[in-house]
Amino acid sequence: MSAPNKSYDPVEVASLRPDEVTRMRDEALAAIAAAADLEAFKQVRLAHAGDRSPLALANREIGALPPHAKADAGRRVGAARKQIADALKTRQAELEDERDRRVLVDEAVDVTLPWDRAPRGARHPLTTTAERMADVFISMGFELAEGPEVEAEWFNFDALNFPPGHPARDMQDTLFVESEDSGLVLRTHTSPVQIRALLSRELPVYVVCTGKTFRTDELDATHSPVFHQMEGLVVDEGIGMADLRGAIDAFVTGMFGAGLRTRFRPSYFPFTEPSAEVDMQCFVCRGGSAEPGAPPCRTCKSEGWIELGGCGVVNPRVLTACGVDTDRYSGWAFGLGVDRTLMFRHGVEDMHDMVEGDVRFTLPFGMEI
Ligand SMILES: [Zn+2]
Repeated sequence: MSAPNKSYDPVEVASLRPDEVTRMRDEALAAIAAAADLEAFKQVRLAHAGDRSPLALANREIGALPPHAKADAGRRVGAARKQIADALKTRQAELEDERDRRVLVDEAVDVTLPWDRAPRGARHPLTTTAERMADVFISMGFELAEGPEVEAEWFNFDALNFPPGHPARDMQDTLFVESEDSGLVLRTHTSPVQIRALLSRELPVYVVCTGKTFRTDELDATHSPVFHQMEGLVVDEGIGMADLRGAIDAFVTGMFGAGLRTRFRPSYFPFTEPSAEVDMQCFVCRGGSAEPGAPPCRTCKSEGWIELGGCGVVNPRVLTACGVDTDRYSGWAFGLGVDRTLMFRHGVEDMHDMVEGDVRFTLPFGMEI
């Protein structure tokens, strides 16, 4: 606050001069008009109508004036402050209206948009691959069979002609439930379903079964403690190796297209005799990459052949264990890897991808529900 001026004339107090009051008022009105949003408006109000604003400071000078000058200066400053207050009120209403309109647009909910926009889940490619594999046999008249994943040792080993000391029964390979002598294992293959099918169905039997199997493997790029197999079993009169070969050929055609050869390599399984490993010609290079000088093939690693699984004529001991008359009936069986089929059919190189549940892996397989 200034000291009382000598002449007691408000015109001599710089901030109370009419032209100075008008200038302060005009400056305030211009700033108010220029405030583009409520945030800027707040600053303008503080600067031109707050306690430290030029006109508020000028107003304080009035108290030091003589009575005759007070009224005149008070009217002038009061009129300017009222104009500013009115302008502030008007501008605030305008800016609030603008904000409300913008919020209505920005936060509008379009109730006509489709409501089911959450991404839809889909079945795992291992499931759909297993179904596609089984479908080839179902189209030939096979039935689907099922069995438990926790299996009696008798079904998993004994009935399938694994002798008591067989290395597959070792805890190194097999996951036993509770203890080694509990008589229960996590099935190491889908073959016990063969036994259950033979014991529960009328002959002839034509069944396929897909499902989880378990071994004590560590998870790495090519192994997993949980993997998937498709088992096939036929028991009928006059059945032999040639029927098996025909069924495998039909499977390869159904899954990979026509014109691919298959081959059997002699092998050994306790539950089949004779036994064979089944290979199919590589469906990418069609065997061509094995020729000298041919471009390499990643799918078959330039071997020209891809291993499908094992198969053979059912060992008569297995049929006998299930009460089947081996003089009248014979049969064949096979076991194919579902995980392996998915891996080479779609170029999946690491088993981790199939068990980790990352949707970036499963999305390209499509949204089969
Ligand atoms: Zn190949």
